[in-house]
Amino acid sequence: MSIRGRLLTLAIGGVVPLLVVGLTMLWIVWGGKQQQANESLEQQAELAAVVFERWIDAQYQPLRTIAAYPEERLNNSSSLDADLKAALAPRSYWIDLRVMDAGGKVVAVYPAGGESLPPGVAERLLEDARRGIANVETDWTRGEGRYVLALAAPTERGGAVIARIDGAALKEPLQGITLPERALVTLLDQRRRIVYRSQTPESAIGFDLSDSGMLSALDKQSTAVIVVRSSIDNVERVYGLARVGATGYSVMVGVPSAVLYAPAWRQLTFYALVSLVVFFCTMAAALLIARSIARPVRLLSFATEQFGEGNFSARAPSEGRDEISRLGASFNAMAERLEKREARFAELDRLKSEFVSGVSHELRTPLTTIKALTKLLMREGLSEEKRREYIETISIECDRQIDLVLNLLDLSRIEGGVFRITHDRVDVGQLVQSVVKSETRSAEKRKHDLAAEPSGELPPACADPKALRRVLSNIVENAIKYTPDGGRIRLSARAEDNEVLISVVDNGRGIPQEDMPILFDKFYRGEPAPLSDAMRGAASDAEFLEDADVSGVGLGLYLGRNVMEQMGGRIEVVSEVGRGSTFTLHLPVWRNGGCPKQAERNNGDG
Ligand code: ADP
Repeated sequence: MSIRGRLLTLAIGGVVPLLVVGLTMLWIVWGGKQQQANESLEQQAELAAVVFERWIDAQYQPLRTIAAYPEERLNNSSSLDADLKAALAPRSYWIDLRVMDAGGKVVAVYPAGGESLPPGVAERLLEDARRGIANVETDWTRGEGRYVLALAAPTERGGAVIARIDGAALKEPLQGITLPERALVTLLDQRRRIVYRSQTPESAIGFDLSDSGMLSALDKQSTAVIVVRSSIDNVERVYGLARVGATGYSVMVGVPSAVLYAPAWRQLTFYALVSLVVFFCTMAAALLIARSIARPVRLLSFATEQFGEGNFSARAPSEGRDEISRLGASFNAMAERLEKREARFAELDRLKSEFVSGVSHELRTPLTTIKALTKLLMREGLSEEKRREYIETISIECDRQIDLVLNLLDLSRIEGGVFRITHDRVDVGQLVQSVVKSETRSAEKRKHDLAAEPSGELPPACADPKALRRVLSNIVENAIKYTPDGGRIRLSARAEDNEVLISVVDNGRGIPQEDMPILFDKFYRGEPAPLSDAMRGAASDAEFLEDADVSGVGLGLYLGRNVMEQMGGRIEVVSEVGRGSTFTLHLPVWRNGGCPKQAERNNGDG
């Protein structure tokens, strides 16, 4: 798994359990809030039941007073009429009031001549009265949606005082209850028909709910809560149910569930939203952190892959101070070094290839010349002059071959650390004369003016005579090679500050300044510099390259510097492109019968 994936998993692993705990807590809070709302609804229903019960009780009061009359007064219909009238008069919603004996005969009724009780109702009321139960009956015989409440108070002799009250009177007590918003109060009689409904439609009055199963919860206990979709207005409500004492009536207070649970729902939604916002913020933060860590690692790994595939310029991001940036910086430093080393290897490789082809060329060219000349020498009738010329050329080419082989041998000795030189007394003036003499032939071939300037009296130098000769010869040969035909080459020697200096001055092409630091490197061979205007008259670049002997393998100066340093000396170069070069060999002066180091050693021994 990627680093980003792992960090995200870590963040999710931390946040998700927290989220689950948070949501569970919310669910518990939600359940608690619902429970609270339900209980308050149950209390509302109980309150409505109490209000209704009290109202009924208030209606009973005058009935009980009359029912408690002595026997004689209960049988005296004329005085009873006056009592009934007095009881009815202040109660506008009472329809009529009557006294019945135990046999069901009406003893007195007010107003007189009013309608008789419907069959069944009178019997039931009398039956209840005889059993001593004060009951309320609903008389539905009045037609659609209209009804009358019939109350009976038992007399001592088994009769009853019965009042009939217009059902519309119920509005008064039940409308006075303070209820929650959009609450619906419904009152049901014993037969579970609606006798009061606080909301329209009116047609709901008389609606039979006995089949709806709504009140089955009430059969088991005195109060309950149910959630039901109303068959009247099709609204889903939570109902609080309560029985109204011994009347057999029930009260339902219903509130649409959406309204009842709205506050709890709002709170839950708020908490859930906050949780979600926290979750997403955490995830976004985790994502950003994961990105900020994974991106540099990815770039670093990309850079290493690129580097591994050979793109040595690939670099990792290294800005910043964190560990990954530091790792990137270390990688970059390493890549920098490897890139330089690689470039160096490539350069060495190139130089080596050039060296191999150069050596082959250097070996083949003189051999070809020697072979051709020996064939010519074998011809009959060759003039003495030609024969001498051919033999001289063969000798020069042989010297070149020997020089090359000696250079190669020196290289392998220097590389193997077994190059040995001697420290002898060298007469520099004599050496200069000798080198000029041996190189004259080559210089003449290129029409150069090669000469040694008078040097006067010189102290002897300390050097390996053979090695020094080869170094000097190589420098003179370079002057001959890298100076266009007809050049001027001067050798001179002088003494300066305990050193003997040998200078070779030419007016050749010179060496570009940018090549100076690598001039003495192994296999270095400079690009031919363009001809100066003065030289251009004599030869074009192409001609120069074709005609001039600019072959070589890039070893002369490398070996020269090594040999000079081993002799305790050095080589200095001053050069300007188009004007020429001056190579100066610095050698220690031979003193007190030895070289300085030898002399020091000798002194130490002594
Ligand atoms: P080689 O002559 O075989 O190339 P050297 O080590 O002697 O190798 O010289 C290295 C390079 O230095 C030459 O290829 C040439 O470009 C430059 N060089 C040396 N001497 C001179 C000179 N006198 N004038 C101009 N360039 C020179």
